[in-house]
Formats: sequence, structure tokens, C-alpha cells
Amino acid sequence: MTNALADALRDIGRPQDRPRLAAFTALLLERGAQLNLTAARHPAAVAAHIADSLTLLRHIRDPFVDIGSGGGFPAIPLALASGYRVTLVEATLKKAQFLREVAVALDLPVTVIAERAEIAGRRPDLRDRFASATARAVASAPAVLELTLPFLAPNGMAVLPRGELGDAERRATADAALVLNGELSGEIELDGRRRILLVTKRGPTPSRFPRRAGVPEKRPLCFASAAARRGDVKRDGGRTAPL
Ligand code: SAH
Repeated sequence: MTNALADALRDIGRPQDRPRLAAFTALLLERGAQLNLTAARHPAAVAAHIADSLTLLRHIRDPFVDIGSGGGFPAIPLALASGYRVTLVEATLKKAQFLREVAVALDLPVTVIAERAEIAGRRPDLRDRFASATARAVASAPAVLELTLPFLAPNGMAVLPRGELGDAERRATADAALVLNGELSGEIELDGRRRILLVTKRGPTPSRFPRRAGVPEKRPLCFASAAARRGDVKRDGGRTAPL
């Protein structure tokens, strides 16, 4: 481990996980620019994403699924720290291939599905299967619910890191949860700018969800029209990573 890596990771995670967290950081920095995996270009920036990912650790259960994993946040740090079986759903093939490489290099029990969540969420081997689902910086909260809840077993929980949440998005999230047979069951504020939303699946996801590829993000359940009327949709639709 180089000094810069060791310094950046000094207070992050359990000591026994740091060699593998450092190996992940090195892979991400080496390949990140080329594959457009992350904007982070320095160990400290990657370390901040790792720390952010690990805020979800106490809320996830085995097995879990991560949607839109990109360069591996939050799934890879969570897989390392929990030892749980994790399935990563990532639509972009080159990112999915990078994630497979990471899993081999770190010897993690990870399955990578190179598919959109709208398609993967209809596969019988993936639907209604997981105890937890995560998704970070993928879409607005109502859209993310439509992409994650189909994967959960009844009583499973979506554990969603979010940035600031306007009133319209919070209301739409609670309403969208009900439409999807779930319930917004908790909101944990980490600091003014970061929170974790917990959404519990109460029963089977209605068979019409998820809708066709691209529709959950383009026309988020209970969100677009109401929010547009009030003029309070953030321009990036809430995609912004919470850092
Ligand atoms: N979760 C990572 C990456 C965020 S960028 C992080 O926090 O750093 C969003 C990622 O989600 C991209 O890699 C994109 O390819 C993927 N993505 C977006 N919509 C998706 C969908 N419907 N199904 C699967 N992956 C999706």
C-alpha cells in the first residue's frame, strides 16, 4: 500500500478490510479516467466515496443487490465490509466488466449483471429475491424505487443514500412507495446534505413495474407532474452524488 493510499484510508472501515479497500482504490484510480468510472482522481476523493458507502452498512442484510453500481459504490465497500453475497446490476458493459475484474482481484462473492434494472428486475431468478437493495446517484428517488423494489423479497428494504431532498421529492417518494407496494419506513439524516431513505417492501411489486427501459427516470412515479407544477424539480432530477 502506498503512503497516499494508507493515509487516505486510515480511519475508514475495519483495519482488516483496508488492504482490499486500498486495492480497490488503486484499481479505480488506474482505470477510472479511461472508463469514466468516477470523477475521483485522488486517493482522498475515493476514500470519501468509500466512507459514504459504508454509512449504509448497518442497514443492509444478506443477500443484497446494488443497482447502477458504476465504479462500485456503494456495493464494493459494502461487500468487503459485510461479507454478504451481492449482485450488481450495471447497464454499461465496460463498467460491468470492470466490476467483474474488481470481484476477482478482491476475491469477493459478487455477481455482476450487465443489464438495465428495468430488464433484470423482470428476471424470475432476480425478482423478489433480495433482503436489501441499494442504489446511489442513479436517478430521482421515486425512479430509484421503481428500479430497486422489484428485486426485494417481501419485507426486504431499499437502503438509499440521498443528498438534499425537497418536499416535492419526499412526498413523491412516499407516494411512489405505496404504488409499488412498499412504504417509506425511515429517513436517517447523516448531516444537512446527506440522508439515508429506508423503504420497506410490503408485498409483491405489481407486475406492470418496472416500466420499459428509460421510463422510470423520464416519468418518475408520482413526481414529474406534481413537481413540475410547483416548479421545484432540481435541474439534474436529484441525480447528484451525495458528496
Ligand atoms: N452508484 C455509482 C455510480 C453512479 S452513476 C456511484 O455512486 O458512484 C449511475 C450509474 O448507473 C451509471 O454507471 C449508469 O450506467 C447506471 N445506470 C443508470 N440507469 C440504470 C438502469 N436503469 N439500470 C442499470 N444501471 C443503470
